[in-house]
Order: sequence, then structure tokens, then C-alpha cells
Amino acid sequence: MSIQAVRGTRDIHGEEMQKWHRAEQVFRDVAVAFSYQEYRTPIFEQTELFKRGVGQDTDIVGKEMYTFEDRGGDSLTLRPEMTAPIVRACMEHSLLHHNPIQRLWYAGPQFRYDRPQKGRYRQFHQFGAECIGSPHPEADAEIILLAYEALRRYGVTSFTLEINSLGTSDVRSAYRAALIAFLEQHAGQLSEDSQKRMHANPLRVLDSKDERDKTVVAQAPLLRDYLDDASRAHMEAVLVLLDAAGVPYRVNPYLVRGLDYYNHIVFEFTTDALGTQNAIGGGGRYDPLFSILGGGEQPAVGFSIGIERMILLHDAEHADTAEKPAPHGVYISAIGDQARLPVQIIALRLRRKGVHVVTDLLRRSVKAQMKDANRENVAFCVMIGESELADQTAVVKNMITGEQVTVEQGNIESVVLQHE
Ligand code: AMP
Repeated sequence: MSIQAVRGTRDIHGEEMQKWHRAEQVFRDVAVAFSYQEYRTPIFEQTELFKRGVGQDTDIVGKEMYTFEDRGGDSLTLRPEMTAPIVRACMEHSLLHHNPIQRLWYAGPQFRYDRPQKGRYRQFHQFGAECIGSPHPEADAEIILLAYEALRRYGVTSFTLEINSLGTSDVRSAYRAALIAFLEQHAGQLSEDSQKRMHANPLRVLDSKDERDKTVVAQAPLLRDYLDDASRAHMEAVLVLLDAAGVPYRVNPYLVRGLDYYNHIVFEFTTDALGTQNAIGGGGRYDPLFSILGGGEQPAVGFSIGIERMILLHDAEHADTAEKPAPHGVYISAIGDQARLPVQIIALRLRRKGVHVVTDLLRRSVKAQMKDANRENVAFCVMIGESELADQTAVVKNMITGEQVTVEQGNIESVVLQHE
């Protein structure tokens, strides 16, 4: 059998590529508007970075990482997320010494050994941003607004912003103890997974999708009842900013997100339009991460959005309105063998002027070239035969109106560029 792409990975091409280009353009434009700098890190890192940065008791580290030993015997891992690599880079290059606020964005592939299905892949892509250096709610709000603007500008609307506060580390340890005590009392009613993670990572039980867990969790003590005044004030200030910006949200007291390093604000963009894959993106404040990775105290907040899911959501919302792209560019058709070579040179000249040009590479008949021009969906067809070669002219046909004019070869661009 011929070799196929690895399970859980996808090729991106054709019409779908246009959607990616548009998504990437939106990310760049929105990030620039918020004054964020693009940051690119390597696809693989030391395994230790994710073990420490994402947390030993998370699904990602426990069962989803692509970890391998390289020929030198080092344990490396294909990045499953971007926050730990960005924090590593920030520390390694002392970025905060140059500027006490680092606003960074990224877009690129991530790798997780997940069970593949629509919207869930083993290589997927994330767009995200990290705001490093500010402990204040304005930074949380800025990050949420950046994510929201990207979704909005891309044109998706059927999502909900859910938000919760996890408070400070002290708040969480008091709550954690109370939650473990409660879960122990109800251990028999919990799913096997939750029974296993109940002691190591009890907060994860709160956002379990298992019905048995949901029933128990409905009675569990709520973190919000344990919040101290400062944590409440932080959350309140973020919500005031979101209100003022006109961003709708829903406070979800059960939202905790999977990773160990979050504190204060956590949020998620969820949707009902993609079946079980209901999260499009999410993030939160991760003040403890710098010290976990040995970088001292450094407040930070960030988000990531799954690009595949964002595109799927757009498709779901716009299924009825998908329209054929407008005709674009020029097809230069050689009428007769003599014209084939000169056509290539005229094409190069036009390409240098910024015109999008297609020519025939299969030495086809004039009729077959016309068919090809239609398939290429060009706005103009330029025809050059023996007589045009002799008097340095070309016939330019407008493919939308059918109108035809003869022009000097040097003037082709002035006709076609008017319509670009
Ligand atoms: P997370 O880091 O798990 O919060 O993921 C952030 C976003 O990345 C999610 O909301 C999804 O949109 C996307 N994502 C996470 N895992 C996958 C996956 N296996 N396949 C596709 N998208 C994913």
C-alpha cells in the first residue's frame, strides 16, 4: 500500500489554504493592533520543560506527549503547547530586562497524542499571545480582548466566553483540601479517571465531562466561596473592563482548565457548533510558571486558540453562503507553437509588475487553453498568435464581460491592473 499521512495529521491545500491565509492575516493584523511581537520557538524542546512547566499530573504530560531520545541521548519532546517554550525563551534571553512588559504572539503547530476525530488532531495549530510582566487586571483584559477580537475579525460569532477565578495559590490550597475531603466522601460515585486524579489533581474533576462526575460536582464546595478580597477585586476589575468593552461573558464557577500553573483568571471560548470538541480556545493567568521554571517571580497571562477549530466553526456558520472566489489574474494563451516562448517572457514581465499570471505548460491546443483559463478562474485571457507577434500586440479578453480589445504588448498591464 502507498504511504499515507500519519493518523491524526492533515494536509492543508487548495481552497482550505485560502482560509488559513486569511486566518493568519487576521492574527497578524490583530496582534499588531495590540502591539504584540511575533515570537517563534523551535518545534521541539527538552522534555523537562514540559514536565515541569505543564505539570506531571496533566493529561498532556501523562499520556499525550511525543517524546523521543535523540542520537545524543537527550530526551526531547515535540511541543504540545506554547506557553512553556515562550517562558523558557523569555528567561533565556532576559527579555524582561529590556522591557518590563513583553507582549508576544505566536502561531504554529503543536503535537499531542490525542484520539483523532473531527476537530481533534495529533498535529494541530494554535494562535496565541502572552502578556508577561504585569500583575494587573488590565493585562488579563487585554489578553481576553485580543483573543476576542481575533475571533470576531475572523468572522465567527457562535461562541461563549466563559470565565472564572482560581484565586491565589493560598486560596487554591485551602480549597483543594476541602475539595479532596468532599470527593473522598463521594469516591464511589466518581468515574474511574476522577478517582485516580482526585488526590493529585482534584480541580480537574470539576471540569470532567463524565455524567457521574457532573452529578457529584454539582454538590461540591465552590472555589468562589474561598476567594480572598484581593482575588475577588482582581476578577471584578477584569469583568468591569469586559463590560465596558461590550464583550459578553458567562461566569462559570466550574471552569478550571487542565494545566497546573493557572491562578486568578481562567477563561475559555466554547461553542455548541462543533460537537464534542466544544473548546475553541482558552487561557488564563499563570503567575506561578516563572518560578516553577526557575525564573523568579513574574506575573503573566495568555491564551491560545485552535486554528483548525476556528476555521471549522467559520465553515459551520457560513455553510450556506460559501461563494466562489472572484475571478483573478491573467491567463496568457499562445496561439500556435511560435508564440509559446515569447508568451513566457511576456508572463515574466507582467509578474514583475505584480500581475498574477498563468500560462500553459502542456503545449495544449487553443481550445484546451481556453478551458484551462476558465478552470483557473482568471479575470482576463491574453491571446498572442502569429499576427500579434508580428506587430507586438495582444488580444485581451475580459472573461467576465466577454469584451475583447487589441493592445500593444507593453500596455497589457494597464488594462488588466485596472481590474485587480
Ligand atoms: P489547550 O491548550 O488544551 O487549552 O488548547 C487550546 C486550544 O487548542 C483548544 O481550545 C483547541 O481549540 C485547540 N486544541 C487543543 N488540542 C487540540 C487537538 N488535539 N486538535 C485540535 N485542536 C486542539
